Amino acid sequence: MTSIPADRSTPVVLPVSKAALWLGLTVFGALLLYYFIGIDQGAVSVFGSDTHVHEFVHDARHFLGFPCH
Ligand SMILES: [Zn+2]
Repeated sequence: MTSIPADRSTPVVLPVSKAALWLGLTVFGALLLYYFIGIDQGAVSVFGSDTHVHEFVHDARHFLGFPCH
């Protein structure tokens, strides 16, 4: 007689230090993305008066409703 093994699931163990690292990296990446899409333009650009980043994310800026021009 064969028996079907019960579906055993193992919990995901994630150390607090590793979770804090991933949370920090995610927040940093999200803020960086938010800055480049929503804020970076013109005189306050991190790259000076260069508008390459602004033009690269221009459609995303309008799509998400950030003020532009
Ligand atoms: Zn625009």
